[in-house]
Amino acid sequence: MPNLPSRRRIRSFVKPFRVTAGKKFKLKHIDPDDTGPLKSKEQAAKLLATGVQRLAELQDRLYAQDKWSVLLVFQAMDAAGKDGTIKHVMSGVNPTGCQVFSFKAPSSEELDHDFMWRSLKALPERGRIGIFNRSYYEEMLVVRVHPELLHGQKLPPQLVTDEIWKERFEDVCNIERYLARNGVVVLKFFLHVSKGEQKRRFLSRLQQQEKNWKFSMADAKERNFWDDYQHAYEDMIQHTASEHAPWHVVPADHKWFTRLVVAGAIIEALEDLELKYPTVDDHKREELRLVQTELEGEGGRDKKKDKDKADTKAEKKPRARKVAKKSPVRKKATRPAARKATRATDAVAADAAAVEPAPQT
Ligand code: ATP
Ligand code: MG
Repeated sequence: MPNLPSRRRIRSFVKPFRVTAGKKFKLKHIDPDDTGPLKSKEQAAKLLATGVQRLAELQDRLYAQDKWSVLLVFQAMDAAGKDGTIKHVMSGVNPTGCQVFSFKAPSSEELDHDFMWRSLKALPERGRIGIFNRSYYEEMLVVRVHPELLHGQKLPPQLVTDEIWKERFEDVCNIERYLARNGVVVLKFFLHVSKGEQKRRFLSRLQQQEKNWKFSMADAKERNFWDDYQHAYEDMIQHTASEHAPWHVVPADHKWFTRLVVAGAIIEALEDLELKYPTVDDHKREELRLVQTELEGEGGRDKKKDKDKADTKAEKKPRARKVAKKSPVRKKATRPAARKATRATDAVAADAAAVEPAPQT
């Protein structure tokens, strides 16, 4: 596709990785090392810059139109690059119209509620882009891989059956359909990193002091459950991919490609909304015209006011001198400042200087 303009080119990267019907989906069909038609980071950087700019324009319209909202869900194994992707792809977006929530292990308050409670509270308002850095999908991932976490959820025991994962898939599908019907565009991203690349990134976090903070022992522990997680991800995507809330299984061994695919998917979804700046009706336009005339008239009035002020000042000067001459205080004044007062302004200073300080008590 050498002749496609950059904007359309970015969109073209997305299709192979979008899953809208999961029945036949297999994780092995997506290679984490894939970089599509691109061969280098440099090629990608230029395209991403165009994408970031386009995203900023679209977000401005989304915000102005104030009807749709967008929910971006990011899921991945540790070190797959969620944080960096969010940072780079959203780098041009106005922070006013964007909200990021990072979901960690639930607090005791959160465990006192149903599992969607904390996510529903964090949904984006109309006109905004909401980002879930991890999400309610952890309820079908980490909780599935470590079923003992279910016990902490205080569910009535008769509700915890072998069907629980299937039920959760159904529940999130229903919620996502509900959101779609309410103007929330849901896009889901699984950043698909290989086990080998995760190892390289962990080692670099351990070897480079300035990256040490990124490594946690929990990450190493979870790596031991790699296959269980891969199975949980595959099953989750198979059961929760839909037209209205698609999954994007994004190759994540090359961060520059991951970012491009994610940017492309968001751009595509926003462009499909055909967002427009709000227009005003004739009545409103007339109101705006009146305000404009009023504001423009202010300029003339201000000028006249300034002129009047200057005239009054000029008129006041000789009067002020008279006052200064007549002032009984001036007569009484014996201090130098008062004696020297010959101009109106000096007369005021003289009056002030003549006032005796209040006796100290
Ligand atoms: P990340 O790992 O996303 O980069 P982080 O390392 O800054 O973030 P962590 O303290 O590792 O933060 O928090 C994320 C952890 O919280 C993950 O291990 C995730 O599995 C866990 N978590 C998120 N949601 C849930 C949930 N609903 N139940 C149990 N654990 C959860
Ligand atoms: Mg972590």
